[in-house]
Amino acid sequence: MIGRGDAGTRGATPVKSESSQPRADLLIADAALVLTCVLAGGDPIGRIPGASVAVAGERILAAGPAAQVATQVDATSASVIDATGKIVAPGFVDSHTHLVFGGSRVAEYAARLTHSAAEVAAMGIPMGIQATVAATRAAPAEALVAGAQQRLRGMLRHGTTTAESKSGYGLTLEAELKMLRVNRQLQDSQPVDIISTFLGAHDFPPEIPRERYVAQLIDEMIPRVAGEGLAEFCDVYCDDGYYTVEESRRILEAGRAAGLKPKIHTDAYSTIGGAAMAAELGVVSADHLNYASQEDFRRLAEAGVTGVVMPALDWAVSHSRPFDARAMLAEGLPLALATDLCPACWVESMQLVMQLACRMYRFSPEEALYAATAGGARALGLDDRGTLAPGQLADLQIWDLPAFEDVIYRIGNNAVETVIKRGKVVI
Ligand code: ZN
Repeated sequence: MIGRGDAGTRGATPVKSESSQPRADLLIADAALVLTCVLAGGDPIGRIPGASVAVAGERILAAGPAAQVATQVDATSASVIDATGKIVAPGFVDSHTHLVFGGSRVAEYAARLTHSAAEVAAMGIPMGIQATVAATRAAPAEALVAGAQQRLRGMLRHGTTTAESKSGYGLTLEAELKMLRVNRQLQDSQPVDIISTFLGAHDFPPEIPRERYVAQLIDEMIPRVAGEGLAEFCDVYCDDGYYTVEESRRILEAGRAAGLKPKIHTDAYSTIGGAAMAAELGVVSADHLNYASQEDFRRLAEAGVTGVVMPALDWAVSHSRPFDARAMLAEGLPLALATDLCPACWVESMQLVMQLACRMYRFSPEEALYAATAGGARALGLDDRGTLAPGQLADLQIWDLPAFEDVIYRIGNNAVETVIKRGKVVI
């Protein structure tokens, strides 16, 4: 973590200020448009034309019309980024990733384009979560750190300033701890904030009976992970062929009792009642939801849950049942968009996720931006980012685009020119 006051790009010599206004270290000046993502006058993304953002340390001091910001802060000694003709938006909050993993599944992905799963298995190509479990167990921690750092660099270049990162490719106490310690190293070694999630219940390890592993998760792994402060969330994969509703409930309740907030992967490939249980438990986020019902969406919304949807994952696995974002939004379920970056879906760009969400899932451009920023923060229980407002972390990106909608129109483009993380220019 960078302490407040360390940030900014000013010289080391403090300049004595004559003004009584708070002093800015950094001024992003005269942008064509600032997208605050704070609801204002019916605009969910709070557009302000002709605007500036002032930053002190790692926080936003002011965001508003340029003339107004000029009267609110003393920017005489601030570094200035001229944003004339540019668009400023909050950094993306990618609320669902499996960015730490060993190896790659490129051979599986390529073979599956033209062959069935059975044919690919017959070719002897390692497949699925278990293939990545084997590669991740075999990888030294340094190799996992290096691989994840490279992916995080790509995410940052595409505007992501906070990323959730799950374990779940270890499936033993030691291998899960290794993955979570990698998360801690990532937090300390590069600019993107890492929110760590324990997903020991991602699949079952091949070497021990199912019941014994569930008991181990509850009695050994969760207490150890919570005791060492290695994760903020506990997650389960609740679906046909994975964890049952009752197993998931027991694991999430044990996590919560130990201080780990609940999240769930559910109803991605079947309807087994996971979403209803998630609403009952009041999880922070329920993710995937392809098979969840309108009634489930209503219950989740009432319970204050955020739905996390991942268009790039459905695309990468050629999902037979795309999720129904319009039905979720109709029930008032707040949504977050996430990459689901993993060996089955190697996507680092939240802009691509927004583009897919708009074209394939009927998000409006405004709904997509909100879900990729403020919605992502909500899915992680964070209220200090995802919007551009005084007091929020100065996590923002500058796009070289003529209009806001170009971000979802220019498919495969990277609009990012500058990224600022906690008040520091990092791209
Ligand atoms: Zn996932």
